[in-house]
Amino acid sequence: MNLAIIIPVYNEQENLPELTRRLTAACETMEGIDWRVIFVNDGSTDESWRMLGESHAADARFCVVDLSRNFGHQAAISAGMMHADADAVVVMDADLQDPPEVIPDLVAAWREGAQIVLAERRTRQERGLRRVGFELFHRLFKWISDFPVAPRTGVFGLLNRQAAEAFRSLPETNRFFPGLRSWIGFDQRIVHYDRADRAAGRPKQTLRRLVRYASDGIFSFSHKPLHLMTGAGVLISGFGFVLGMVFLVKRLLGVEQAQMGFTTLIVVVTFIGGIQLMSLGLLGQYLSRVYDEVKRRPIYIVRQRLGVPGSAESQTTEESAGP
Ligand code: UDP
Ligand code: MG
Repeated sequence: MNLAIIIPVYNEQENLPELTRRLTAACETMEGIDWRVIFVNDGSTDESWRMLGESHAADARFCVVDLSRNFGHQAAISAGMMHADADAVVVMDADLQDPPEVIPDLVAAWREGAQIVLAERRTRQERGLRRVGFELFHRLFKWISDFPVAPRTGVFGLLNRQAAEAFRSLPETNRFFPGLRSWIGFDQRIVHYDRADRAAGRPKQTLRRLVRYASDGIFSFSHKPLHLMTGAGVLISGFGFVLGMVFLVKRLLGVEQAQMGFTTLIVVVTFIGGIQLMSLGLLGQYLSRVYDEVKRRPIYIVRQRLGVPGSAESQTTEESAGP
């Protein structure tokens, strides 16, 4: 049985030697598994590309897909998925936050019959804003999404051939891997592990990107924000109608109206104005994503490959990049 391990790499020169060493050690322990690693070089500007080339030269089981620029974490994962033709596919990060030593456990669960294996962290090492952000996002996502993701899982996990095939067949451009993995269904099993802190280097996902990632997750997996806005509209206009009636009746009955209410007026006008702008922005979030989908641009563009045959999908994108 063969196994492909997909690892997106963006400026990870400090982590690559340790990663390849620990990967080899961990994978050698698995019997009867023909494994290989597909590194996706996501437009690294440091020594990563050269180092990946050297790993490939030293051991042909380390393959590389080199993207033409930095397309982002999720796009890099998609690129790896498109190139992995294996009985099972493991996805993990390059910064050693996902320990390679867990791979045999994932494979064991798969051999016992699981079609998708999620690596769930018992503990997490990040601190400060990032940690608060992650917690907040998972709470929000659980409430908002029709297909919640297990709160302590990220991209780390295994998909069998059928599940990987299902993922590859998804047509969208905005790809939120954990959400889509939950959406495709199949028998999912959980394996626990202790998540390490990033071994070396700064996080490559800036806070802004993480926010973008989170909103991709929310807007592509839920219509709830739209329903909430509709609900708020109904509530506020109902309130306005009742208030209007009260004043109208008072006027008709000739009840004296006090010349007050300037503060109320300002508060109401700014409040309603704010809600309206927010709703517009929210619509914009959906619209811009619809626009991205309609353009049908490829998710990534491959510059070159080491040790992996071109996938059907990316070949067409390369051809169509011509005249
Ligand atoms: N990564 C990537 N492209 C990017 C940003 C990150 O391929 O534009 C890779 C990075 O090399 C790492 C993984 O994605 O292997 C996760 O990145 P990071 O550790 O910065 O994210 P976090 O752990 O904070 O979610
Ligand atoms: Mg990380």
